[in-house]
Amino acid sequence: MNALPSDLEIARSATLRPPAEVAADMGIGEDLLEPYGRQVAKVDLAAVEALAERPAGKYVVVTAITPTPFGEGKTTTAVGLAQGLAREGSRPVLALRQPSLGPVFGIKGGAAGGGHSQVVPMETLNLHLTGDFHAVTAAHDLLAAMVSNHLHHGNELGLHRIEWRRVMDVNDRALRSIIEGNGGPMDGVTRQSGFDITAASEVMVILALATSLADLRERLGRIVVGWTREGQPVTAEQLKAAGAMAVLLKDALKPNLLQTLEGTPALIHTGPFGNIATGNSSVIADRIGIRSGDVLVTEAGFAADMGAERFFNVKCRTAGLTPDAAVLVTTVRALKAHSERFEVKVGKELPPEMLAESPQDVEAGVANLRKHLEIIRSFGVQPVVAINAFPTDHASEHEVIRRVALEAGARVAVSTHVAEGGEGARELALEVLAACEDEVSFIPTYELSDPLETKIEKIATGVYGADGIDIAPAARKALAQYTEQGYGELPVLIAKTQMSLSHDPTLKGAPTGWRLPVREVRLAAGAGYVYALAGSIMTMPGLAKHPAAERIDLDAEGNVVGLF
Ligand code: ADP
Ligand code: MG
Repeated sequence: MNALPSDLEIARSATLRPPAEVAADMGIGEDLLEPYGRQVAKVDLAAVEALAERPAGKYVVVTAITPTPFGEGKTTTAVGLAQGLAREGSRPVLALRQPSLGPVFGIKGGAAGGGHSQVVPMETLNLHLTGDFHAVTAAHDLLAAMVSNHLHHGNELGLHRIEWRRVMDVNDRALRSIIEGNGGPMDGVTRQSGFDITAASEVMVILALATSLADLRERLGRIVVGWTREGQPVTAEQLKAAGAMAVLLKDALKPNLLQTLEGTPALIHTGPFGNIATGNSSVIADRIGIRSGDVLVTEAGFAADMGAERFFNVKCRTAGLTPDAAVLVTTVRALKAHSERFEVKVGKELPPEMLAESPQDVEAGVANLRKHLEIIRSFGVQPVVAINAFPTDHASEHEVIRRVALEAGARVAVSTHVAEGGEGARELALEVLAACEDEVSFIPTYELSDPLETKIEKIATGVYGADGIDIAPAARKALAQYTEQGYGELPVLIAKTQMSLSHDPTLKGAPTGWRLPVREVRLAAGAGYVYALAGSIMTMPGLAKHPAAERIDLDAEGNVVGLF
């Protein structure tokens, strides 16, 4: 394969269709579109009602095996698959998260797919889009300001342990831990706090899971900002902040309509973090997308143990939608990394010996693929293995993946969508369409009525493959307290590394004989879940010695350069 032009070059040479034309393909009229510039439009929330009587399309989630630090191509595959489906005569709609500015200027330099499978306009998508993330930042920080103000004016509600921090959409490690209220008596109450990246804000998850404006407003009110000395929750409603937050977010709740390089409709909306949040795009976008095409393709962050688990157990349940198929993106490089014969490190190039033809090294890593297929099947959903082809792959290596997938009873296709666009994803598209015709009997991992601890245990054992959980006494006490306070029926998330099926990033393949340690649990009452911490979780990334920002600039004509 020849070297491709850069993603930005490919994206910029694309001719975009007018948003109204893209929307018309979805059966969405101009009365339901709010143009944001010439190439992007928001879809009015009235579309949810307007489309409600239409038949629902198929619901397909794109997930992956345990990745290398580079990502295995879920976004590119989701985009490529949508393009491939269109070439097969289907009417697909794509629903993806909006990229966070943090990683765009940090390590990644863009997250709109790659090569000939991208969402465009790529610069707009990667830089602000329609300002939804800024609205999340503003709403989150308004609540933080009202918490601090409440303390300054006498703390009538008796806030004692405050958990609400501030957010911004820039990676800045120096703000992880701060002292606020330095200065004189008129400068606020001195206390320790800190910043998280906007994608880690509970407000972001609320926006992603809200089913309507009214639901958004109620969820904002349920946010627990902290606790009294007696351990009672103090909410955003009690602080009288939730109404103003909803006002700041009312336009951000409307999904953004963009398109793929081949003109397929793409709803880009919200961007919750994959570790402490759901890692999936919005319920509203999916509710609109599922009724405006034959197939809705969406991506779940990280690997199937995390993103797809949350997609199934939390997002599908909230949205009231059931999945029809799951695409499991698999790469030669990731399986080779699972062989444990190579050292793959964050911020380092792939070891060159990993690129040599070696079906044996792929074979040595297939336990991870098998386990992820099992995970998808545990939800009663049909997996389709997408072999995301890289220019450095060899046919013999793809053959190993194909054989293992078929042995496990899964459908499988090699996809060359990055090099060839939708044309390269036609075989995958056909396999996905066939999988959508298979019988699905969707089974969540746990019942919402299960005790919180049982829910955590069921995910650890039933999804990750742990022997059990070891829960710290303080965490067990907190779970009992949440249950007593009426939060016991919430779903749970487990925040752990995405680099292993276990909590230990060094355990590759499909680890067995281990137990999941839960050291702490927290409540996200507005978003509507309890999350368990199994490992140290970073909610404010730092910048590398040479961040992507150093390469991003404007050229003499005012074009953005350095995004890729
Ligand atoms: P994920 O969504 O799983 O994190 P992405 O789709 O964002 O992964 O891809 C991660 C990186 O790998 C991107 O820089 C993308 O351009 C690159 N990439 C993905 N698939 C391919 C491929 N088939 N060939 C070359 N590069 C690819
Ligand atoms: Mg992605």
